Amino acid sequence: MTVTDLVPYEDALAAYDPVMGLEVHVELGTKTKMFCGCATTLGAEPNAQTCPTCLGLPGSLPVVNATGVESAIKIGLALNCTIADWCRFARKNYFYPDMPKNFQTSQYDEPIAFDGYLDVQLEDGEVFRVHIERAHMEEDTGKSTHIGGATGRIHGARHSLLDYNRAGIPLIEIVTKPIVGAGERAPEVAKAYVAELRELIKALGVSEARMEMGQMRCDVNLSLMPKGTEEFGTRSETKNVNSLRSVERAARFEIQRHAAVLSSGGKIVQETRHFHEDDGSTTPGRIKEEAEDYRYFPEPDLVPVAPSREWVEELRAGLPELPRVRRNRLREEWGVSELDMQAILNAGAVDLIVATTDAGADAASARKWWMGELARRANEDGVELGALPITPEQVARVAALVADGSLNDKLARQVIEGVLAGEGDPDTVVEKRGLKVVSDEGALGTAVDEAIAANAAIADKIRGGKVAAAGALVGAVMKATRGQADAARVRELILEKLGVEG
Ligand code: ADP
Ligand code: MG
Ligand code: ZN
Repeated sequence: MTVTDLVPYEDALAAYDPVMGLEVHVELGTKTKMFCGCATTLGAEPNAQTCPTCLGLPGSLPVVNATGVESAIKIGLALNCTIADWCRFARKNYFYPDMPKNFQTSQYDEPIAFDGYLDVQLEDGEVFRVHIERAHMEEDTGKSTHIGGATGRIHGARHSLLDYNRAGIPLIEIVTKPIVGAGERAPEVAKAYVAELRELIKALGVSEARMEMGQMRCDVNLSLMPKGTEEFGTRSETKNVNSLRSVERAARFEIQRHAAVLSSGGKIVQETRHFHEDDGSTTPGRIKEEAEDYRYFPEPDLVPVAPSREWVEELRAGLPELPRVRRNRLREEWGVSELDMQAILNAGAVDLIVATTDAGADAASARKWWMGELARRANEDGVELGALPITPEQVARVAALVADGSLNDKLARQVIEGVLAGEGDPDTVVEKRGLKVVSDEGALGTAVDEAIAANAAIADKIRGGKVAAAGALVGAVMKATRGQADAARVRELILEKLGVEG
């Protein structure tokens, strides 16, 4: 189906109510894999991080990674879930080259966490509660690379390469209950939910949750009910959507596509679909297996997981402040709008600004430097803000030098440039580059006298009342002092000496 076959979004929503289900996979940041001691370092040589267990060789035996279980419990608690007293792993049986055991170790009817919710804030500030069905532990599969085809997919490929470094990396799958009642805002809710979940996971410190690196990916289930009815329709499942924007677009596209099929008397097939970044469309994947097809059964090689209540309570007590709560608190403390806060969040600047204020800067200047000069540099260099070679402490020091009048904004930017260039701390850069506001009134006075003498015509105009012409003299003084004077003070001095009122 092409984009032209879609029902316009508003028309689709006038006739149908969307029902959505989001399944999010999060790769945990544990040092070792879920069931063996193999390293999980990114970027290793293909198949360098494998062993008999994660390669599924006969006779090998898995052992559960305790940190993986701990992370799962933390996620469950942060999502307001009940944590199981006792649960097991299950084998999900299927043959696929990227899963050499011929089953994936997962959890089926006994997840570690269930029945929770996550409150997400929409753009207009309204809070929408998304109910969580369960969060369960499983393992990632290997990675296949198909060679020779035009699309990089298996169709048309000559051969495929397999890398099992990812096989066995711990995953937590978080599944929502059907999301109803979002109406036209369903795509926005989907995006806001994934965004909030990502912040939560990062705040818990269990994963970096970088979607562009595949550390977090989302399957978008969607179906439509004719308005006024309550029975769910057949869903489609758009797999592995890997950016916030794509989650929103995939939901939107599927609403329009389902509406087109249904309103022309067609039937939706339950299938998986692929999302295409280029035009925001989805195309069919495979017809959906039923759970029976996987022949789930309890994993006989692993002992059940029975987290003690003491441990669970200890983990609960150690949970950080929830990101939404923290964001609202900071927004008030900093006195910024929802929109500004969103921009700060999108820039990845929240923690940097907090660290900068912790180091003594006031919030306004911390925000100004990170969201201004530094954001510009990060953008120019194509790196994340946090990856710039400058620390919050150094930014706070620059802010302090501006606050006490040692630097003006222009000089401060040069200091930052020096720090980024590896010239050392702000004070070292000031020293080495000789950057200091000329506040010595004697030296300033001389510079002003010289500027007046060299620009007699302009000076006359100012004496005659054209105060606006003072800018040219200020410029001359600033140039003479290599930008190291306080421009406001220079202006005062010029007017004083020419005997006019500012
Ligand atoms: P599967 O593994 O087959 O995809 P899951 O139960 O893991 O099944 O996930 C299905 C997801 O889709 C859940 O989030 C669920 O709430 C949601 N869902 C179930 N039925 C529908 C439906 N008819 N329309 C939209 N979403 C649905
Ligand atoms: Mg699914
Ligand atoms: Zn291994």
